[in-house]
Amino acid sequence: MASGGTNYRNGTQRNSLKGTTTATDRQLSMNSNPSKAALKNKSLSSVGASSGLRKSSPGSLGGGTAKDDAGVPGRVRVAVRLRPRNAEESVADADFADCVELQPEFKRLKLRKNNWDTDTYEFDDVLTESASQKRVYEVVAKPVVESVLDGYNGTVMAYGQTGTGKTYTLGRLGEEDTADRGIIVRAMEDILADVSLESDSVSVSYLQLYMESLQDLLDPTNDNISIVEDPKSGDVSLPGATLVEIRDQQSFLELLQLGEAHRYAANTRLNTESSRSHALLMVHVKRSVKGRELAHSSQNGNSTNMAKSFRPTLVRKGKLVVVDLAGSERIDKSGSEGHTLEEAKSINLSLSALGKCINALAENSAHVPVRDSKLTRLLRDSFGGTARTSLVITIGPSPRHRGETTSTIMFGQRAMKVENMLKLKEEFDYKSLARKLDIQLDKLIMEHERKQKAFEEEIERITTDTQNQISEAERNYADAMEKERLKYQKDYMESIKKLEEKWMMNQLKLGERKDQMASTAEEVAELKKLLSKETSLRKATEEEVNNLKSQLAQLKMSEASANSEILKLRKMLEDEAYRKEKLEGEISMLQTQLLQLSFEADETRRRLDRGGPGKVPGGLDSLISQVRPQVNDSVSEEKASIANLFEQVGLQKILSLLEAEDADVRIHAVKVVANLAAEESNQQKIVEAGGLTSLLLLLGSSEDETIHRVAAGAIANLAMNETNQELIMSEGGIRLLSITAANAEDPQTLRMVAGAIANLCGNDKLQNKLRGEGGIKALLGMVKCGHPDVLAQVARGIANFAKCESRASAQGSKTGRSLLIEDGALPWIVQNASNDASPIRRHIELAVCHLAQHEVNARDMITGGALWELVRISQDCSREDIRTLAHRTLTSSPTFLAELRRLRIDY
Ligand code: ADP
Ligand code: MG
Repeated sequence: MASGGTNYRNGTQRNSLKGTTTATDRQLSMNSNPSKAALKNKSLSSVGASSGLRKSSPGSLGGGTAKDDAGVPGRVRVAVRLRPRNAEESVADADFADCVELQPEFKRLKLRKNNWDTDTYEFDDVLTESASQKRVYEVVAKPVVESVLDGYNGTVMAYGQTGTGKTYTLGRLGEEDTADRGIIVRAMEDILADVSLESDSVSVSYLQLYMESLQDLLDPTNDNISIVEDPKSGDVSLPGATLVEIRDQQSFLELLQLGEAHRYAANTRLNTESSRSHALLMVHVKRSVKGRELAHSSQNGNSTNMAKSFRPTLVRKGKLVVVDLAGSERIDKSGSEGHTLEEAKSINLSLSALGKCINALAENSAHVPVRDSKLTRLLRDSFGGTARTSLVITIGPSPRHRGETTSTIMFGQRAMKVENMLKLKEEFDYKSLARKLDIQLDKLIMEHERKQKAFEEEIERITTDTQNQISEAERNYADAMEKERLKYQKDYMESIKKLEEKWMMNQLKLGERKDQMASTAEEVAELKKLLSKETSLRKATEEEVNNLKSQLAQLKMSEASANSEILKLRKMLEDEAYRKEKLEGEISMLQTQLLQLSFEADETRRRLDRGGPGKVPGGLDSLISQVRPQVNDSVSEEKASIANLFEQVGLQKILSLLEAEDADVRIHAVKVVANLAAEESNQQKIVEAGGLTSLLLLLGSSEDETIHRVAAGAIANLAMNETNQELIMSEGGIRLLSITAANAEDPQTLRMVAGAIANLCGNDKLQNKLRGEGGIKALLGMVKCGHPDVLAQVARGIANFAKCESRASAQGSKTGRSLLIEDGALPWIVQNASNDASPIRRHIELAVCHLAQHEVNARDMITGGALWELVRISQDCSREDIRTLAHRTLTSSPTFLAELRRLRIDY
């Protein structure tokens, strides 16, 4: 046995279970927190000392890598798995109890020493004989696989006696029953599900270690693979081992089967069995870290695309090692395999070296004999290194193998004390970057070479060209020089010749000159005479010119004065024309005035002739007679006068004068129009020529009382015609007349306005519009002036309105109370029903009768006192027709009759 059951190092041994140390040990050992895990070690007194010791511990299998940067402390996790009794045991051990008893709920294992004594051990996990493969995977291997996917190294190892289920736990393919799948198959499934096949890679090596020789199970010819250790990082690699990239689960299963076949063949060749060799599966998971932009700032600050593409990718390289160890039983025990003692030692070397290393690590010993075997060299990262390690120890139930079972349990207990420092295997992928850069560099070199060659050729070409040009230029220059020289020589010779000739000529001339000198003196005298004559002539001419100049100046002066005269005359002419125009305007105005005056004079004369107006003004006839001559008396005379006027001036011209700027002209014009409008035969012409519109406009725009009065009179006359009434209404006549009434001081103006509105009141169609635009209110407003002429017109208007209403009621087109009552006319009506002035009284009596004819008005009439007026009219009215009408109305109204009865008046 490698170690005894009384091992003092085992803190979980039953004897010490009662001690506080054990409790602490169990509790803390389950926790991966660095400070708590460190406390577990009894030899340490503080957290700081603990981590310092771990990092610098020379004994650590992975000491070389752990000191770069602090990792995460992670203890080796150990689970125990009990195999169920097999057929043989069921028979052979039928009478014996199992040598172990599991308490999974407490994670405890009880090992029966004899019939009365047991030892109790605690593990990270206790897996009973009924534990499923899935559960075993999740408890033992899954955390390790996840770490590998995160970029850590991981180890899953099975340790135990032959036949206890190591291979069952790790290597079952589960081809018949998927529930049987072992850790290896399940681990690869999880890995392939997590990686991305585009950016990540998964590759596998499969090896067997037997008698310190490492064989490649994926390539049997490779039977002595060497282990290479990086002296700096301490990383172990197997450059000679076949590495197969895995892309799907099926190819992985095939690969495992191939490896298994090779293992079987090798074992046959070596005359051994698989239980004597260690099988190692190594899965390399390389993942590129995405989404992490590297903060490589380019040196000049502007990072180009090229610089970006030359950033190295960050990669995480996790390695999962699954180890199916050789059976832990001592080989010399059976002795049946025919090995020599040396061979037996060699066969067991790796396993016993592993036991020694784990002992040393568990005890924190200064020396860990890693280099003693190939297995310990291969697993230096798994125990005391940077990997997350999970160990499953397998045991059988048979009491016959209690010794082996005990030693297996002790191995597991010691392994639980081994502390690793998990470290992320993350690095920049400088290799692929270097490859990329190499390619880029080669490209650039080639490009450069090409460019250099082209450049040299270009230089050569330019040099040749230039030389040609230079020699050409030199030749040309020499030719030109020669030509020039010859030309100069020729010129020079010629000029010498010419000079010689000239000299000869001069010699000849000199002789002749002397002869000429005498005759020249005579010529001079003659010329002097001529000159003096010329001089006197020039003087005379100069005088003449001066003379002419002064004459010219005089002429210019007289022309200027003539021009200014012309300008003056022109100005005068314009003034005259303007004055003439003005005078013409005045003349035409005077002409109109004259016309008007003569017209008015005629009229006055006629009136005087007739002795003036005799009737009391008030009725419609008298209204018209106020503004026009007595039609009936002298029709032909009048017509002639109007015709005369039309002929002389023209209607259009007269109407246009309504808008004249001069107020007097406007007044005259409106008077003329009013006179014309008094004649029925002219009315249509006036309206057609826009006279009515102009008159209405004048009402609104003028502030002159006379204009208001005369225009209102004209409108009143025109308002006798039904078509004109509608026109007046549509042009806003009511509003204009109301405003005029409100501003008027002269009762005659009010009379004209009231007359106009009274005419409009007599139009059945305009009732509502007239009332809506305030016609009734305007009428009633005018009574406050008190003038009988005005009151007569108001009364006439009310009578007209009442008549139309009663007509409409009779026809059924009007329902509801009289609008007159609505607008408050009743009190005034009652008050004036017995007015002394007969035109007023007559109209009001009619109005009362009309109102009374409609039953809806009866109540208001009773309360307003109109019933008494009606009674009075029916008895006292001087006109018999009205009296009769009142009587009939009264007797036909049930309301009135009822009221009279109520008052006990016998009617
Ligand atoms: P080892 O690899 O440790 O030598 P094996 O895995 O070959 O042991 O197991 C030996 C035998 O026991 C095999 O027939 C195996 O199917 C069986 N066995 C092992 N563990 C179990 C288990 N948990 N349940 C059922 N059968 C098991
Ligand atoms: Mg096996």
